[in-house]
Amino acid sequence: MRPLAAIVDLSAIVHNYSVAKRCAPGRQAFAVVKANAYGHGVREVVTALRDIADGFAVASLEEAAEVRAMHDEARILLLEGCFEAGEYAIAAQLGFDLVLQSAAQAEALLGSELPRPLNVWLKLDSGMHRLGFDAAELRQWHARLADAPQVAELNLLSHFACADERGHPLTEQQVECFLGLLDLDFTHRSLANSAAVLTIPAAHMDWLRPGIMLYGATPFADLSASELALKPAMTLAARVIAVHEVAAGESVGYGAAWVAERDSRIATVSCGYADGYPRHAPSGTPVLVEGQLAMLAGRVSMDMLAVDITDVPEAGIDSPVELWGSNLPVDEVAIACGTIGYELLTKVTARVPRRYIG
Ligand SMILES: *Cc1c(COP(=O)(O)O)cnc(C)c1O
Repeated sequence: MRPLAAIVDLSAIVHNYSVAKRCAPGRQAFAVVKANAYGHGVREVVTALRDIADGFAVASLEEAAEVRAMHDEARILLLEGCFEAGEYAIAAQLGFDLVLQSAAQAEALLGSELPRPLNVWLKLDSGMHRLGFDAAELRQWHARLADAPQVAELNLLSHFACADERGHPLTEQQVECFLGLLDLDFTHRSLANSAAVLTIPAAHMDWLRPGIMLYGATPFADLSASELALKPAMTLAARVIAVHEVAAGESVGYGAAWVAERDSRIATVSCGYADGYPRHAPSGTPVLVEGQLAMLAGRVSMDMLAVDITDVPEAGIDSPVELWGSNLPVDEVAIACGTIGYELLTKVTARVPRRYIG
């Protein structure tokens, strides 16, 4: 068997969920499990959180149905609402909570005959300008929906654009915009993503929406997961499958993109871009071999990558390799690659077996 797996520590996810809850005593929290639980495996993550999570949040009806199949009772929120008129009746049948983010969605809901009313979350565009109603529109829809037969609870939700950059002026404006609507009658209010759960108590409201923090990565550029007491959930683990001595001046890999400056030992590792490791990772990106820090050397191939192990003499064929995980934060790899931990975690491909521990 090819030596590559994403080892997922479910107890870390349980721990991280309880960190979110401890940040905001008395509040409830939707565990955000969209995109296959940020690549970790939605079935296993929902099962691990089954008895402790207050609810789950996902990006589509298809994702929600997958959670419902595992959990009859859970509160499940569709973060972008429905995409087609036919979905409202299914959402009602399956008992989902629904975001309404546009007039078209609201009209489609009001035009639907539902087997039972839905819990609705009116989405306020408080400044991100991606989804939602402005404050005046939201007031009008609140009035129209308050007594609609399709609506059970009427709730308020918004999303931050810059909560990950601490002290960004837009964040305070967004909180103000949200607070400006609280004279209206809502059953529940929700504003906080992971960054706000961790650092903006004024944004906690009634329901938190932690995503990335559950998986032990940081939403911040300047605050690490370990500083936030988060435990990494996924370790992407491979092995050395070949070792080559490369003389100074010789090159490694496609495009001969890396040239040895000294006589070097190069390990070939069983992970490539078809597994989700970014092809654009530059030479020098950190990799752990035998637990020692080493550097990516040359271009990432489809199924393999090369690491300079000249300074790790104990490393050889079959040595364990950590691409990221419990000893090498995914956020450090992400920074080296010019991206964010979210992207690396969600892009681990289906051919990488997930192994569950904890
Ligand atoms: C994905 C998402 C979240 C979770 O964000 P994190 O930064 O991963 O905590 C929260 N709310 C909405 C609307 C989202 O789409």
